[in-house]
Amino acid sequence: MSWSFPIGHLFGSELRVHVTFFLLIAWIGATGWLQGGPATAAIYILYVLILFACVIAHEFGHALTARRYGIRTPDVTLLPIGGLARLEKMPEKPGQEIIVALAGPAVNVVIFLVLALILGPARLAEVTFTEITLATLPAQVAVLNLVLALFNLLPAFPMDGGRVLRALLTLSMGRASATRTAATAGQVLAFAMGLLGLVAGNPFLLLIAFFIFIAAGAERADDAMRMIARGMMARDAMITEYEWLRPGDSLDLAATTLIRTTQHEFPVIDPNTGQLEGLLTRAALYRALEASPRPERVAEVMERDLPTAELTEPLTTTLTRMQGGAPAVMVMGRDGALVGYITRENVGELMIVANARSR
Ligand SMILES: [Zn+2]
Repeated sequence: MSWSFPIGHLFGSELRVHVTFFLLIAWIGATGWLQGGPATAAIYILYVLILFACVIAHEFGHALTARRYGIRTPDVTLLPIGGLARLEKMPEKPGQEIIVALAGPAVNVVIFLVLALILGPARLAEVTFTEITLATLPAQVAVLNLVLALFNLLPAFPMDGGRVLRALLTLSMGRASATRTAATAGQVLAFAMGLLGLVAGNPFLLLIAFFIFIAAGAERADDAMRMIARGMMARDAMITEYEWLRPGDSLDLAATTLIRTTQHEFPVIDPNTGQLEGLLTRAALYRALEASPRPERVAEVMERDLPTAELTEPLTTTLTRMQGGAPAVMVMGRDGALVGYITRENVGELMIVANARSR
């Protein structure tokens, strides 16, 4: 995801902006310029910037509430359709998840109420969105914060209301089915909005519908994967039946073993001590066979710095160990000996099996 770049830090989270956000600014600026020249363009851009400050406040509503439950938010990204606070994880308890989800819209409600108190109901009642002037700007910002809060409370993914719905459904059905229901609600909503956008000839509505549709689908897949991994431990995903090699074995023996088995990687174990010395991967073996001068022993070719995990470590933690590009995570027993290992391929198999079972 290199389509966004950092613009600074706030409350310990990195603030990032998606490049399409600048397209939106340019588009709004151009619209204002065509309507009333540079002064109007400036007001329109100011309006969008204020609006996005409100969106950032909304996201930090989520982030700072999550922090109270010990969950960090590494970054907050500004997208043209809103913000995205990437929480490290969602709270385990449905009650906490609801509070974190509602904290965002609550910020917009507070902004609305404060502005409404200052401006009075008469100023708010005359708000239209056909024209923005410096005089009407505060009232428009107030009303849009209310719209933002209500929109986000729609009970569908990826809106905050979808999380509340999911958390409530979790109480009566499984987490996976609850996620599917909330995601389906999101796609139905996106479809309805898209239809409305077509009928009303509103391209912005169509764009939002498109984003919601994509995001609801992604939420479903992503969440399903995290949900499946959540209750599992390293030992649930590991390969326990495998052939292994000795550090002193020749590359010819390694090549024969590669062909004779279905394995793509081989733990290398010292037969005298029983200790894991490294891992020989298929790719490393291929490279070594081609190299000149050709290495002779497995010990010269194997990878040595491998991430390790304990048997009862949560699988979600084990998966993060793989992110550095390691070919496998080695699972060690209490005595420090290898009991199994986990590759991306068999995590994939596990996900497919578990997902099929949950349906
Ligand atoms: Zn939100």
